[in-house]
Amino acid sequence: MICHRCHSAMQMSLERYQYRESGLENVFIDRCIIHTCEKCNIRMAVLPDSETAAREILRTLVLQKRRLDGQSILFLRKVMRLKAVELASVLRVDRVSVSRWENNQVAIDAINDFRLRMAAVDRVIARPAQREEADVLKMLICLIMQDHYESSKDVGNEELTISSPLQESGALINSSETVGT
Ligand SMILES: [Zn+2]
Repeated sequence: MICHRCHSAMQMSLERYQYRESGLENVFIDRCIIHTCEKCNIRMAVLPDSETAAREILRTLVLQKRRLDGQSILFLRKVMRLKAVELASVLRVDRVSVSRWENNQVAIDAINDFRLRMAAVDRVIARPAQREEADVLKMLICLIMQDHYESSKDVGNEELTISSPLQESGALINSSETVGT
């Protein structure tokens, strides 16, 4: 890649990238492609398209042992394309509960954490070809919630890593530029 400022060749590297563009502070892309111009101090990360990334984060998030935190609940709701009131109705709770969870005022209880994860899989991993994947995910969620759930720790304090789907497809879909370090 050529630097758009000085037109010299940029250096390419694979790095762990904090994927703040996802809306979550604790998500990292493993071996993300980074183009760097040392002269201009510009770094460009090659990012997956946001929908692919969102599904990948969802897959990672629903299999965490720790309790979903506000940021994660909001993230899943947005991936499901639901308003707070709609999510409340899916979970059969009131709207106020949803906003209290999302604002980290109240910790989500295990039952609703479980229901939310299941609903997220049902609604997002929903194409007929994804049926088997959705079934496996839901089975794993059941196992995790039964035997490994950690209600006292929240998932926001743990780093989540997704792999870069770009390395398989080879497509440059989206990029994020950072000036300075
Ligand atoms: Zn440059």
